[in-house]
Amino acid sequence: MDIEFCQSCGMPMNDNDYGTNVDGTTNKDYCNHCYDNGEFTSDRTMDDMINFCAPKMAENTGIDESEARKIMEEMFPNLKRWKNNK
Ligand SMILES: [Zn+2]
Repeated sequence: MDIEFCQSCGMPMNDNDYGTNVDGTTNKDYCNHCYDNGEFTSDRTMDDMINFCAPKMAENTGIDESEARKIMEEMFPNLKRWKNNK
């Protein structure tokens, strides 16, 4: 089974977590926290997103926040939203 990761925040997504396009169809690239009705819900930079997500990821996974940050700093530059937009 394939797990899709949000191409903005790196969160693993279930069927209920996908964002929506402007025509109401599902957008499987991004989660509904990041992308809604065809638009990003915030204009965070990649660094902002890491600052925002690292504490949550640490909390959800039980790892240190610094460890979460390290994982994200390696992962995020490869995500679609940030790849061409450092
Ligand atoms: Zn997301």
